[in-house]
Amino acid sequence: MFDKILELKSRSGTHSPSIFTMLEEIPELKIKVDACFLSNPYATELFLEYFKRELIDTGKINRVLEFYPSQSSEIAELLGKNLKIDPARIFVGNGAIEAIQAVLHRYVKGKLIVNIPTFSSYYEYITPNIEVVFYELKKEKNFKLDVDEYIDFVKNSGASSIVLINPNNPDGGYLKFEDISRIIAELSYLDNIIVDESFIHFAYESSDMELKSVLPIVLENDNVILVKSMSKDFGVAGLRCGYAVMKSEWVKELFSNGYLWNLNGLSEYFFRLYVRKDFNDAYEIVRKKYITESLFFIAELQAIEGIKVYPSKANFVLIELMNGLNSGHAQARLLSDHGVYVRNCSDKIGLNGQFIRVAARSKDENEVIVNAIKSLMKLPVELGL
Ligand SMILES: *Cc1c(COP(=O)(O)O)cnc(C)c1O
Repeated sequence: MFDKILELKSRSGTHSPSIFTMLEEIPELKIKVDACFLSNPYATELFLEYFKRELIDTGKINRVLEFYPSQSSEIAELLGKNLKIDPARIFVGNGAIEAIQAVLHRYVKGKLIVNIPTFSSYYEYITPNIEVVFYELKKEKNFKLDVDEYIDFVKNSGASSIVLINPNNPDGGYLKFEDISRIIAELSYLDNIIVDESFIHFAYESSDMELKSVLPIVLENDNVILVKSMSKDFGVAGLRCGYAVMKSEWVKELFSNGYLWNLNGLSEYFFRLYVRKDFNDAYEIVRKKYITESLFFIAELQAIEGIKVYPSKANFVLIELMNGLNSGHAQARLLSDHGVYVRNCSDKIGLNGQFIRVAARSKDENEVIVNAIKSLMKLPVELGL
């Protein structure tokens, strides 16, 4: 089983094999805890409660399936009211990935600076008109972006566009609102500043755990594009919900040329919930509960010997194996011996060393993960292979 897992991984390229593929190909495999995918499980439960009560129990699910959903510009109207911004600036997408793809394909040209390690779409979904230049976040600096050094780098590179993912995936590094504001101000000459806040609901700067989005800055700067996925912090990746805030001319152009029904009935239902006060109040409770438990989980991981846990303001941590164990083998071992599925980061550009990424789950699942990693680190390295 251990060997089969290694082989599947090598076939799946830059994204991890889905749980479905793994279970199909290795029927004897039991995944007890999926710590690979980065979602808040309590948020998924909350959505399911609403879904069951309002769509299943009432029979309204029938309408959701039988009829066309609203056009995405209608959903943009709702979001605009909720976010208090002009809906003409909102592009609602079939997942944030659709917005990323649309912007990269149509509006980005020349040099694009991507900080590594990163979420691979930003350098994979490019066109022949884009030249990606990597800016390396250094592990010696805990993958923390040095704002002044970065600004100099961008200015000297001749780049016209940059991407900032905040908090960053896969390391969870966080740039404070003040730092991002400074970068945007100093680099105001750029054509495009893409800020991806797909994990922002897990981050905060003050003790009340309020999130701090750059949305207000986007509204004052036409060259800033805000990307937001709902997949991770709302735990609904399967629904494909995301949006981006950008120039209204772009939104108009995109909608005049397609994307009319890129949302489906269930993603429309999600967005209609998202803008409702009762849902939002309930969500805030599970958001803060999850952050609190994740902090405890990260502290427990930090206490394990033989690994280095990098600082994170997201719901996951990047872990470096310091005892000589290979990350692919660690992943397969955790899965075959403990049913714990983690992300092997060996394919991530910009990571030198043996890294795995582990997501926080529910409290009970976190215990299983911590114990699995503890026992992995107790194995003699030869046996871990
Ligand atoms: C997962 C992810 C996305 C894509 O999200 P979808 O809404 O599921 O398409 C975008 N950006 C980052 C940084 C991500 O991690």
